[in-house]
Amino acid sequence: MSYRSSSYRPGCCRTLLSLLMGAALLIAGIKIGAWKPDILDNAEYTIGKTIANLLDSRPVIAIDAGHGGDDPGATGLVDEAELTAQTAAALFDLLEADGRFQPVLCHEYDTTATIQERYAVANSRYADLLVCIHANSDPNGSGSGFECYPAPPGREYHQQSYDFAQLLVEEFSTLGMTIRGENGIRYAYYDDNNEKYIMESSNTLVFDDPSFGMLEKTKAPAVLVEQCFVSSESDLAQISGESGTAAAECYYRAICRFFAGQLKDASSDSASNDQNEAGNTESGSDETTTDQLGYQPIELPDED
Ligand SMILES: [Zn+2]
Repeated sequence: MSYRSSSYRPGCCRTLLSLLMGAALLIAGIKIGAWKPDILDNAEYTIGKTIANLLDSRPVIAIDAGHGGDDPGATGLVDEAELTAQTAAALFDLLEADGRFQPVLCHEYDTTATIQERYAVANSRYADLLVCIHANSDPNGSGSGFECYPAPPGREYHQQSYDFAQLLVEEFSTLGMTIRGENGIRYAYYDDNNEKYIMESSNTLVFDDPSFGMLEKTKAPAVLVEQCFVSSESDLAQISGESGTAAAECYYRAICRFFAGQLKDASSDSASNDQNEAGNTESGSDETTTDQLGYQPIELPDED
């Protein structure tokens, strides 16, 4: 699967960069005037993303741990915010140790961040994928399982978001998690009274009602995950697994599979960049191997 082709060619890079910088300066000049049509915002974003991609073509993975700061989220055997921060941190470490990705946390665990602040981080870093990590809770203690919410039908990144959601369902299924609903993939919307309603993924009608703000506002494929119930002992055991970070490993494998078509390019780009800028090829990615599924075996990062 590949949705963003990128090929780094040192020969044409500088010329292209000059052209893009020129266009950026032109746009900056127009912005000085009061009138600024939406098309300029899109052009600015596209130019910024292109430049960022030329400088480092590794996919940018935005990780949003649900809640945090003053907001504990759902409560149960563990607070949702604490759990999702742990998963987010472990996923960040896995992606960073891999070397083929640029992981970005949308906020720190101990800070209270609004939705606007979170998707602003994702967009300012030109994220190629957003994953929002959440968890459910059931006061009766009987609820359990995994479900996730891609950007719904009609949205620009719906299909890619859905494709990534399917990979997540497959990976979390390997933990023995209950897959909720029809296939673990659902769409959430808010009506005029701000009441949330949920559709199974078989309902492909386009609703005008907004979905989760993170999914609507981030300019990338995006999935919000309710990875388990914090009120369920068995759920918590399953997403911990023997390693303690089984959930993070599921996201990591799904991300590797999602970007499998472009990771070879990204890896060689990274090596080229290192060679040009640092005079050597020490990128760490040369030693990597891929298995039949197109992703690397998990290697936990060194403690140092
Ligand atoms: Zn939540």
